[in-house]
Formats: sequence, C-alpha cells, structure tokens
Amino acid sequence: LVRLRARLARSQGSLGKGLLALLSRDTLDEEAWEDIETTLITADVGVAPTQELVEKLRTRVRVEGVSGDKARTILREELVALVNPGLDRTLKLEGKEGQPAVVLVVGVNGTGKTTTVGKLARVLVAENKHVVLGAADTFRAAAADQLQTWGERVGVRTVRGPEGGDPASIAFDAVKQGIEESADVVLVDTAGRLHTKTGLMDELGKVKRVIEKAAEVDEVLLVIDATTGQNGLTQARVFAEVINVTGLVLTKLDGTAKGGIVIAVQRELGVPVKLVGLGEGADDLAPFDAEEFVDALLD
Ligand code: GDP
Repeated sequence: LVRLRARLARSQGSLGKGLLALLSRDTLDEEAWEDIETTLITADVGVAPTQELVEKLRTRVRVEGVSGDKARTILREELVALVNPGLDRTLKLEGKEGQPAVVLVVGVNGTGKTTTVGKLARVLVAENKHVVLGAADTFRAAAADQLQTWGERVGVRTVRGPEGGDPASIAFDAVKQGIEESADVVLVDTAGRLHTKTGLMDELGKVKRVIEKAAEVDEVLLVIDATTGQNGLTQARVFAEVINVTGLVLTKLDGTAKGGIVIAVQRELGVPVKLVGLGEGADDLAPFDAEEFVDALLD
C-alpha cells in the first residue's frame, strides 16, 4: 500500500501540491480562488464538485484561517469527503450457495478490460482462489489470445469460443466450467464496441441474462481509461444506462495527472471506484482507497 501511494504520488502529486500552494497564499483574493477552481477543473474534477469544494474551502478558510498546517488539514479533509461519499468499495467475490462468484468486466475497447481481468486473476490466485476466465470479447480478434496468455501466465484456465462466436454462449460456458471445477471466481471479459446504444444493450443484456441461467452475476465492473477525461465519462454514462454497474475500474492513472476523474465519475454514476490500474504490468492493479489517494495527491 505504501508503494501504491508512492506511485500514485508520482502521477498525481502535482494536483494536490498545486492546490496546497494556492491555498497557502498570504492573501486569498478572488484571483486565488479562481486559480483553485481552474486547477480542479483542469484535473477533471468536474464543474459541480469543484464549485462545492471551493465553497466549503472558502467557508473553512474564513472561519479557521490557513496558518501553520491548517491549509493542508482543511484541504485533506474536504478532498477525502469528496472522494469518499460513503460508497461500499468491497468487491463481491463470494458466490451464492457454493457457486463461483461471477464478475463481468465491461467497457469500451482499449480502456484496459483484458489487462484488468489478467491482473485481477493474478491477485485472486495469489489469495489461493480458484479462478476461471471467460473470453467473451469475440469482436476483437486478438482479445481471446491476449486473455489466454494472461491465463497461462497466472495458471488459470481460459474458456474461449470460435472467433466471431456468440459472446453470451462463451460467457455461459465459462460459468458452467467454473461450476464444474468448483471455482471460486469466474472473470468474464466482454467486447466493448460502442456502435449503438441498443446494440450494446442487446449484447451485454444477453450476456448477463444467459449467464444467469447458470449463476448469479455478483459484480459488473466498468473499466474507464483515466486519460480520456470527459470522453471517458460520456462512455461510462452509456454503459451505466444499459447494465447495472456495481463498481468502476479506473485504468492508466499512471498516465495522467488528472486524478480528479475519480471524483467526477463516482459523482456522475453513484458507483464507487473499486480498483485502479497503475501500469501495464501484472502487479499494476490496486484496490482504491480514498484516504490513500488524497494523501498521494498531497505528498
Ligand atoms: P481492452 O481492449 O479494453 O481489453 O484493453 P487492453 O486490456 O487490451 O488494454 C489496452 C492497452 O492499455 C494495452 O496496451 C494495455 O497494456 C494498456 N493498459 C491497460 N491498463 C493500463 C494501466 O493501468 N496503465 C497503463 N499505462 N496502461 C494500461
């Protein structure tokens, strides 16, 4: 966890430090507050949360002042409150009645779905969990190979079908395989083409419905590329409209200083960020923690 904080600080440190410097100015005039607002919006925090935060900061600074460590304390407390609006971040990885937990991983192509499934499989295997992977992304030709490579590396079975096959039937087969093997968790990688909303809805809806003939779906994780800012938010909104998303995975946080997207996307969807991707490697996945995140901003 210390390492996570250090690594987050590397990409996100400038945001918090910039804010702190602004807030610690001798004279906090209108211009300073505007600069604070701009800094937050530039970091993808979103307009409404930014205004709320600035309002709170202004009040507290007026009442409490900013002498000594006060600016840092106020900023830390208000950022934590914003990043942590009381959402439950635990991954639901207990299947019902001896069945494997089923995790559907959804999102636009290229956001990091397959990589996330591979990394998550590795984490679970390290916890001695029996994992099965389902390669239901039959749209992108190399996706199943890529997933299988992750599976082999981690030592778990990958259930796949013919190229261009029916994603729902592959997902179903993977879950059935998981039940047969008494697996703890089945992770299903899906295709994320945003052709049309109804197309997406039909496809993901069918995948979920068909899986549910065999077992309950315990988590639907929506993967969002943190480097895509507002675009990522728009895509997230579409997915949330077509399927009941239970958690967010924010990938490529290592590639952007705009960590404010964490705040914006949770606010927008009312769903917690449960995991973050911090690189392309097998170890580059971490559970999200609000306090740790804010401390990384301020480190
Ligand atoms: P998918 O199409 O959604 O399955 O996306 P992939 O899993 O194939 O990932 C797309 C690209 O993003 C690959 O080159 C990954 O290595 C890269 N990637 C995934 N997650 C991360 C991350 O957290 N950080 C960085 N820097 N790259 C990532």
